[in-house]
Amino acid sequence: MLAQTKTGVASELQPIAIDAQGWCTQALVRPSPNFGPRPDAVEISLLVIHNISLPVGEYRQDHVSALFQNRLNCDAHPDFASLRGLQVSSHFLIRRDGQLLQYVSCLQRAWHAGVSELFGRQGCNDFSIGIELEGCDTEPFEAAQYQGLTMLTTALLQRYPITHIAGHSEIASGRKTDPGPCFDWSSFLATLPGWEYRDN
Ligand SMILES: [Zn+2]
Repeated sequence: MLAQTKTGVASELQPIAIDAQGWCTQALVRPSPNFGPRPDAVEISLLVIHNISLPVGEYRQDHVSALFQNRLNCDAHPDFASLRGLQVSSHFLIRRDGQLLQYVSCLQRAWHAGVSELFGRQGCNDFSIGIELEGCDTEPFEAAQYQGLTMLTTALLQRYPITHIAGHSEIASGRKTDPGPCFDWSSFLATLPGWEYRDN
């Protein structure tokens, strides 16, 4: 079985795990200040899949981590102007080569979903974990990313009472489009025993 090394690159080691403090033991940790406490007694019941790249479709730089750590130079690219002053984060990022990064403990509330709703329940950041795939809406994701996503999701399902996995576009309909039409939901969910794709 594939797993993550300590440097976050997929290799044939043990399956990944989430520790009691909500950190993935094999992820590269890049702490973000953009988080807060979850509401009391809330259960982590939702996984939200996103895509992100800065600029869109460019993967060589470290701009996503810079954004999540409030150190992005917003003058570096014209597309970044709209990001000035924005404070956002995600729990995880899976880069194109499968490298896994973590910014916020799963026990904390990361700021990835924004205005959102799942089956009438608002504020999905309260009860969800956010996973960003480095990518965009118009380009297929890499096999290494699907492998990493399956391993991470498997570890999260073992640790938390997750009942739904949704795209950002499903919980922020009309506002967000990610992970986009290139994300292969049915193949991804087929790797998770007991899960299946349903087009709600
Ligand atoms: Zn998103």
